[in-house]
Amino acid sequence: MGIALRFEPIDANGKRYEVKVVATDLKRMYARVVDGKLVIQMPASWDRNYAMESAIKLYERARRFLMRHPERFDRKRMEVRDGMEIRVLGRAFRVSVTENPNSSSSRARLDGDTVAISLSGRLSQKDRARHAESLLSRTCSKAVLPALADRVNRTNAEHFRSTLGAIRIRNNTSKWGSCTSRNNLSFSFRLLLLPDDIIDYVIAHELAHTKVRSHSQRFWAILGSIVPDYKQKRKWLNAH
Ligand SMILES: [Zn+2]
Repeated sequence: MGIALRFEPIDANGKRYEVKVVATDLKRMYARVVDGKLVIQMPASWDRNYAMESAIKLYERARRFLMRHPERFDRKRMEVRDGMEIRVLGRAFRVSVTENPNSSSSRARLDGDTVAISLSGRLSQKDRARHAESLLSRTCSKAVLPALADRVNRTNAEHFRSTLGAIRIRNNTSKWGSCTSRNNLSFSFRLLLLPDDIIDYVIAHELAHTKVRSHSQRFWAILGSIVPDYKQKRKWLNAH
């Protein structure tokens, strides 16, 4: 199916979101903000007119949402300082930041529980912050991924027994978690900085999508049987 739809960019809170429509092999239509763009994912198998009508409706919904909650998509940068400590999935890391004036690249390594970040000395202030944050999140993500996978697999074995694809941690996303049609599960690094019970809620939520893809009543019923106070958890997350 060719995509002949063009949407006006959305201006919300001083920010402009270009709109892109892409065909996918998914069964439902989704709108997401990716790298500052609104991306409408349109199932390629849908009837063309129906798909267009649905896309227009979804665009309108997304536009209203962006106008009302611009802060949701303004990803705040984590400030990385020498000597700071962070907890990722309950594991404590110490952070050391040094600068190497002779190096044109930045790197990080894990030394016990210390993330040693060495920044290139040739960076602007803004790039320093960007490098430090992405090195820190990548290094910690790699270190805690086995523990996260364990936790996902345990909850899955206990409640769902679904066949899972890959389990990943994403460093640059506005979503807390996601589950694809092939049961590949992703969780955001920012989620792993939150309290344990919230992480468990998101794990159960994404696993429940292996049984029910949509947020239907059946989906919430399944989730509610595992996380009885899921409504509070959802509210808490929406406020973050
Ligand atoms: Zn969901």
